Amino acid sequence: MKILVINAGSSSLKYQLLDMADESVIAKGNCDRIGIDGHIKHTTFDGRTVDTDCPFPTHTEAFEKLVEVLTMGDASVVKSMEEISAVGHRIVQGAEIFDKTTLVTDEVIQQIDDLSELAPVHNHPHALALRACKKVITPTTPQVAVFDTAFHQTMPPKAYMFGMPFECYEKLHVRKYGFHGTSHRFVTQALADALHRDIKDMKIVSCHLGNGSSITAVDGGKSIDTSMGFTPLDGVIMGTRSGSVDPSAVTFVAKKMGFNAAQMSDYLNKQSGFLGVSGISSDNRDITAAASHGDSRAKLAGEMLRYEIKKFIGSYAAIMNGLDAVLFTGGIGENSDDLRADVCHNMEYLGIKLDDSVNEGLRGKLARISTLDSKVEVWVVPTNEELLIARDTKALVESLK
Ligand code: AMP
Repeated sequence: MKILVINAGSSSLKYQLLDMADESVIAKGNCDRIGIDGHIKHTTFDGRTVDTDCPFPTHTEAFEKLVEVLTMGDASVVKSMEEISAVGHRIVQGAEIFDKTTLVTDEVIQQIDDLSELAPVHNHPHALALRACKKVITPTTPQVAVFDTAFHQTMPPKAYMFGMPFECYEKLHVRKYGFHGTSHRFVTQALADALHRDIKDMKIVSCHLGNGSSITAVDGGKSIDTSMGFTPLDGVIMGTRSGSVDPSAVTFVAKKMGFNAAQMSDYLNKQSGFLGVSGISSDNRDITAAASHGDSRAKLAGEMLRYEIKKFIGSYAAIMNGLDAVLFTGGIGENSDDLRADVCHNMEYLGIKLDDSVNEGLRGKLARISTLDSKVEVWVVPTNEELLIARDTKALVESLK
């Protein structure tokens, strides 16, 4: 069975075509600059490529080009789109409506679009892509929606409610939703599999650290709390996002700087975090390099992230009344051995002992990085959201037969 995985943004359409027989990637690429001019970059498993400009006024033209490169020319990988059994879409916000992977219907597309108010950057483009996909790709090919928020729908109200007037929840749907759910679900299951343990018996803190970062308490395979909130702005300091700040600081800064709501949101989402604190870059590698050359603000930004991660690990161990494993994933979590060391050192009280000889230099590989006598296992687990979307899509379409 071949599954096409789509991750659509307002101006891009990232895709992977997977062969589910061995879960290998047959082709992947990106239709970029939609609504601006248009460019496609496509690579096949055996190194054939398409890298060319072409007009993409809307997502529809991008899908038409995608069908063309998949089925025709030097870098084609299927004879016709009928070889593709289903299309799985990454959807950022499913709110309380979608607590699991869902077959896409016209009503589901409308519901996803209606949630745009909660995720303006993501959900409307997702809906555009779903409609375009239905129009262009054989209308009979099932489409499946996999939601970033669905994994966190198991959080109890005491974890997801804010201490604001109840009408904010009832009328405005303001609550913690959590994000990166597909990644947290993939890596925690991958860890349980690596340990040959039933995830139902495990208490895991999953640290997804990248440009956006979130930390999740996974108890018995279920998310019971997570660091991101109503939007992906909450939690630890990120590349350009502030993470948690006192709400009064937000109203104070808006007043002092003369920002309206949209400008304030932009300030916190795009000009804060590593970039805002260091004044240098949002990228962890740049921050690490600047810190090693003595830049004190870059050093501070890195220290803040490490400190906040430690706090989340401690607090999540407390709410789960125990901890079997901590895992690191995402661009920073998988590659930054110095961050993993700084987070895990001086955590003996919690039962965490890092094996520095294994941790050092380890990048992007599944591996245990704690010592054999560490009470809590510490692991690096590479994430693969596309693969989980493809697996979910396959399972759902098979259940329809
Ligand atoms: P992601 O959003 O998951 O793609 O992660 C992006 C982040 O990972 C950026 O801040 C990068 O600097 C960081 N990153 C990627 N590779 C490395 C590496 N080899 N060492 C340290 N940080 C890295």
